[in-house]
Amino acid sequence: MSLYKIAEPKQSKQESTLTVGIDLGTTHSLAAVVDASGTCQFLKDEQGEVLLPSAVAFLDGEVIVGDRLAKNALISTKRLMGQAPDAVAHLPFPFASLDGATPTLSTGDGPKTPIEVASEILKALWARAQKAYPNETFKGAVITVPAYFDEAARKATADAARLAQVPVMRLINEPTAAAYAYGYGQDQSSNLLVFDFGGGTFDVSILALEKGVFRVLSTAGDLQCGGDNVDEYLANIIVHNLGLSPDYAEYKNICEKAKLAKEALSQASSTYIQIGKKTIEIDESVLFKAIEPLSNKMIALCEQALNDAGLSKADITNILMVGGSTRLKAIQQNIETWFGKAPKTDCNPDTIVARGAAYQADRLAGNKRHSHSDLLVDVTPLSIGLEMMGGVNEKIIPRNTPVPTRVVQRFTTYQDGQTGLILHIVQGEREMVNDCLSLGRCELTGIPSMPAGKAEVEVVFTMDADGLLTVSATEVHSNVAVSIELKPSYGLDDETILAMLESSLSHADDDIRVKQRQMKIVEAQQLLQTIENTLSTDEESFLSEDEFTKLESAMLNVAKSIEDGASTVELSNAMKALEPLASHYIDCRLQAGLQKVLSGQSIDKLRD
Ligand code: ADP
Ligand code: MG
Repeated sequence: MSLYKIAEPKQSKQESTLTVGIDLGTTHSLAAVVDASGTCQFLKDEQGEVLLPSAVAFLDGEVIVGDRLAKNALISTKRLMGQAPDAVAHLPFPFASLDGATPTLSTGDGPKTPIEVASEILKALWARAQKAYPNETFKGAVITVPAYFDEAARKATADAARLAQVPVMRLINEPTAAAYAYGYGQDQSSNLLVFDFGGGTFDVSILALEKGVFRVLSTAGDLQCGGDNVDEYLANIIVHNLGLSPDYAEYKNICEKAKLAKEALSQASSTYIQIGKKTIEIDESVLFKAIEPLSNKMIALCEQALNDAGLSKADITNILMVGGSTRLKAIQQNIETWFGKAPKTDCNPDTIVARGAAYQADRLAGNKRHSHSDLLVDVTPLSIGLEMMGGVNEKIIPRNTPVPTRVVQRFTTYQDGQTGLILHIVQGEREMVNDCLSLGRCELTGIPSMPAGKAEVEVVFTMDADGLLTVSATEVHSNVAVSIELKPSYGLDDETILAMLESSLSHADDDIRVKQRQMKIVEAQQLLQTIENTLSTDEESFLSEDEFTKLESAMLNVAKSIEDGASTVELSNAMKALEPLASHYIDCRLQAGLQKVLSGQSIDKLRD
């Protein structure tokens, strides 16, 4: 039988080598791709805009991304990423609920989490990439996060990407991306101060650069200090000078005009603002004055970051200016005066972070087509943590931390007279140590007997460029010390790492619940212990019989909730019932004590 040739076999499609770098900002987000020629291309929307305002409006059945003025648009929700409801309840967001593990925001399409909001922004940027290169499939994206983002905030960002179906190659720190884009990292060693002044926040990071590896030495910042505040200062001056009393909407409108004037003043020395029929001239000096308090605050934060890094200005090779607000001439001048030399402003401060992310993504995809190819930022694949009371995993070195790294934390003893403690070092993302990989234990003994909470144990985790971990612990009052060397990634292949990550993702909700409950139990046990200890030292009763019975039964109730494995909410309720009774008892005790002092008795007897 003969064969008929029916068609040329299809040329196997070349494997995709394109990747995306994404700066997921508080005010603006944007994305860039390093193309086949090694050029960084910023992805634009249909109007040719690169910067996508980080604003999302959920309507019934429709999502509008990028329009700050859209009805009920959610803005600045990056500030909520990975945050517990308690930590953000005071912030001016339209919360739908603060009861669950994550806060939710109310929208025209039901409650949404900050992760869902971020996911919409990521989807929009990912779609830009598909549109710009319709014949390509993208390998994945590098997304930047602030250096101060903790593991929860990083995980929230990774979850947002998963939800948007954007494969994350790596999350990297914004200042690291900026330094990378500036071309740092090849051969030189240097210390950099990255000054990131954006729309809503100010962050300063001190980076050390050695042999192509970035290390974040310290960060400082102010989440309430950004370009928006400059707009408000200017708006307030306008309102005052024109004798206006605007309502909220009018005030917001004046702020928008102030913003345009502010931006114009980075090109010209004066500009005009039109409010109704009135025109007001704003010149540089007004803006300089408006900025002075902010600028002083930022310089103080730079000093603090330097201090925390153990460096002085003289140790800093360069200051890199990042974020749209560093275009303000006043800021550049003030920084120059403080630093003693001009900061680096020769890259576009709006796009530098995305550019660095794009270079890094391209490098991770194995390409070597741009001039930044040599750099490889090495990071820890899984978090390293310590076992805390109740079997909770306290992550000390978060996953994705660039190595080498050194983290110092202080802990204290849990029980009165505790003379030793076990350091149990684990690796993994899960919240309970039993679900993580145990790396080793060492015991710190010979701590002099002290009341609970008095001892101060400084634990230092040092990981070198090869991932070799050394953990040492010192009780600072007595100088008793112990140290242990471990090799965390030994024997952990990529598959195991992946499985551990997947398990942490799929158990995330359960884990948080278990962890919260464990933490509540520890808190409850401490409260009970304190009351019991205090009661046992009383030589007389400070409560009426009825009050004492109530206190005792509330204590029993808490103890029983712990024993019976009650839920966190039930345990919290039991504690809520106990707390006022306990503080009443302490008050009575204090009052009685004071009266005794007043009547001439020695106070020593009343002290614990
Ligand atoms: P984020 O990182 O928080 O998303 P950006 O880096 O996008 O923020 O910075 C946005 C801020 O930069 C806004 O407050 C904007 O007004 C400010 N900005 C942009 N251009 C200028 C300019 N020419 N002069 C002063 N401020 C500017
Ligand atoms: Mg930014």
